Amino acid sequence: MTNKPEVPLQRPYRSKFSLFDLAKIGFFFFGFPNNTFGSVDVTSDCNLRCEHCYFFEQERVAQCSLEQWRDKFEQMKAEGFRFYQCTWVGGEPLLRPELIELGRQYFKFNTITTNGSLPLPDWKDVSWCISVDGGQAYHDRFRNQPGLYETIKRNIRQSEGQRITIAYCITRQNQADIETSLAEWYQNPKVRNMVFSFYTPIRGLDDDLWLDWPDKDRLLDKLMELKQQYGDFLVNTKPALELMKSSSARSVTDNCLFASTSFAFDPAGGVKKPCMLGPKADCDRCGCIVPFFLRSLTDRKLILKDLKQRFFSSLQRSRG
Ligand code: SF4
Ligand code: SF4
Repeated sequence: MTNKPEVPLQRPYRSKFSLFDLAKIGFFFFGFPNNTFGSVDVTSDCNLRCEHCYFFEQERVAQCSLEQWRDKFEQMKAEGFRFYQCTWVGGEPLLRPELIELGRQYFKFNTITTNGSLPLPDWKDVSWCISVDGGQAYHDRFRNQPGLYETIKRNIRQSEGQRITIAYCITRQNQADIETSLAEWYQNPKVRNMVFSFYTPIRGLDDDLWLDWPDKDRLLDKLMELKQQYGDFLVNTKPALELMKSSSARSVTDNCLFASTSFAFDPAGGVKKPCMLGPKADCDRCGCIVPFFLRSLTDRKLILKDLKQRFFSSLQRSRG
């Protein structure tokens, strides 16, 4: 880990109760609804070939045409599907923007996860997750694409008013870049926030990116510390980070809410199981933040603890 960067806190720390807290109260009383969120693999293609890509470890399937997707969405609508939130993934989803153009009209909230190598279309109604796994040297090497980091920065610079999140997947190899990356993106006015996940081992791929549990626990503590400094810019919540630790992770992944409550479609419109990461993901060592986040939103004990803590810190701040 590098020395702690000096970061002026220019962005507000969330101090008030939000819609998000109201949602938690809703889950507290009514549970988490099925099929409210999920993912669509927009395309089987990608303009990069990262060595540790889970996507290309999956079986290749033929892509549905636009018409077939339209028919599928219409059928889902007729069957009462909620169409609440969808994450458009890939391959590289921006290689097929016409499907997102179509699909995002059905869903209330849309997120696009991209490798950032292509200019961002001027869609202000969606949220963007741009994958950046480390500092410039590491990222360009890891993604087998010299100059990619600069391209990403240029595409972000040229964007206007898009809601951009930097998504950093922590591995054994890029753990040293966490703090400097966070400090760098924090200073970028076009970036709304940053989220950290951990590498999930995939059957068939080398295990060299996986962090041992003690290392992972140490980094989770580090992220909680950084959360104090960066506030809401660091999207991961403290309760969800706690749950990712070795002492509790299996209790979450053995009953993964992502697998049981979300939908995931492959490029052919088929249902992917157990989740968007596909059947080769090692659930016992899952580093995806979603199941932990969902548990923190739905576990009544955790909700009460978090709301209590937030209420008192909010009170303290308003008095200070
Ligand atoms: S950019 Fe994403 S989809 Fe493309 S090869 Fe890399 S990890 Fe896979
Ligand atoms: S890989 Fe993770 S998110 Fe996917 S089903 Fe397994 S535990 Fe859940």
